[in-house]
Amino acid sequence: MSRKYKGSLNGERYVANASPYKREVHDLDNENRNCMIDEIIRSRHDKPYRTLAEARRDDFPHCPFCCSAGRQLGGGNRFVEQSAGGDHFATELSLLGL
Ligand SMILES: [Zn+2]
Repeated sequence: MSRKYKGSLNGERYVANASPYKREVHDLDNENRNCMIDEIIRSRHDKPYRTLAEARRDDFPHCPFCCSAGRQLGGGNRFVEQSAGGDHFATELSLLGL
């Protein structure tokens, strides 16, 4: 549950696994042991991102273990969860000036 300063990482919140066999982006502020971040760094597939929007722009899908903030906030209503996630993404894009 902490940001990292090793491999390619310099305190960024998100890290993508650039391995062609398991492309996905992880949220280091919500790290799950299933993410195996250390394994990604050791195999030098770590690609740091400051925002989730940037990782999505590079076509990295979300890791289901750590990028589930929308689900935690949703309170069990699937439709609300999905629209909340979309709003969050739109907000991040607007911050990037896209
Ligand atoms: Zn993850």
